[in-house]
Amino acid sequence: MADKRDYYEILGVSKTATESEIKSAFRKKAKECHPDLNPGDKAKEAQFKELNEAAEILSDPDKRAKYDQFGHAAFDPSMGGQDPFAGGGFGGFGDFGDILGQMFGGGFGGFGGGQTRNGPIPGDDLRYNLTITFEEAAFGAEKEITIPREETCETCHGTGAKPGTEPVTCKTCNGTGQVRTQQSTILGSFTSTRPCTACHGTGKIISDPCSDCRGAGRVRKNLKKKVKIPAGIDNGQSLCLRGMGSAGHRGGPNGDLYVTISVRPHRQFVRKGFDLYLEIPISYTTAALGGSLTVPTLKESVKYQVPAGTQTGSTFRLRDQGIQRLNANGKGDLLVTVNIEVPKHLNDEQKKLLEQFAETLGESAEGRSSKKSSFGRGSNGKK
Ligand SMILES: [Zn+2]
Ligand SMILES: [Zn+2]
Repeated sequence: MADKRDYYEILGVSKTATESEIKSAFRKKAKECHPDLNPGDKAKEAQFKELNEAAEILSDPDKRAKYDQFGHAAFDPSMGGQDPFAGGGFGGFGDFGDILGQMFGGGFGGFGGGQTRNGPIPGDDLRYNLTITFEEAAFGAEKEITIPREETCETCHGTGAKPGTEPVTCKTCNGTGQVRTQQSTILGSFTSTRPCTACHGTGKIISDPCSDCRGAGRVRKNLKKKVKIPAGIDNGQSLCLRGMGSAGHRGGPNGDLYVTISVRPHRQFVRKGFDLYLEIPISYTTAALGGSLTVPTLKESVKYQVPAGTQTGSTFRLRDQGIQRLNANGKGDLLVTVNIEVPKHLNDEQKKLLEQFAETLGESAEGRSSKKSSFGRGSNGKK
């Protein structure tokens, strides 16, 4: 979620703003872009959503502290943080519901957790799992995905009524979506309200439903979408495509689409962060004498000079031969671990030369030759 704006910037407050400053900034800005006051304005809807999110995080001292420390990553589900909208949504945080209640006379539907059914309701967020290759993650890619989602019915433009007809105001509740009942008891009369059953709380009756969506106002369609995968993305990270989720109801904003990336492992390289790890064999002589080593990278092979006396298991760091840093400049490194290969089959001449070499080290040839070996002469050469 690298395209996310800074929460303080969204609210137009400083990093040291007090809680009441944050609330008053939110109140002022929410008035400008509230969807109820700007019906059909997608940009304002998105702005309002962004504003809600910023206010939710910054008005909660715990969440604010996390945000100050980790930024958006603290709440990015792919980073193992907490989804700010998991559990409750906007209705859950006390004060803001009140603020909006005052502002809009209590009829704050949709964003408030659905107390009223005839306000705008945001569309569902969608999730999609996309598997890509190791190279696609390293270099970036563009992939087309197909995902079923609810879209506004084009035939009726979301009203649910057959073209040429319109939903009519419910007579039972006079369009309020609620019915009041009065009960007389010994203690006096009580008035209670409950959702209207005739219109299911919507306030409208569709007498002639649209044949394409059967009155729902939305239809299920397959969305084909090209997704740009940024270079450096890693397994388990998500991309958020704002407004690409299901269509909202009654002018509510679209949900978002979260694309979670699975990266196939590479047959040679192992990735940790932006660094690559590789193990390659090296001959005994190259290790002992030093020499040029051909090291594969993700793009092409490079030469690396190993020093004389290289031990098995040694690791060399090749700077900037790793993976492009996600949304940043520079690359990680390539860490090459060399393993000395001991030859399995030697011809007579090679054996002879190695034995001569061993003698120069003061090692005895005794006990090495398999033909001469017998029990009781257990030592494998002394040092
Ligand atoms: Zn329709
Ligand atoms: Zn009704």
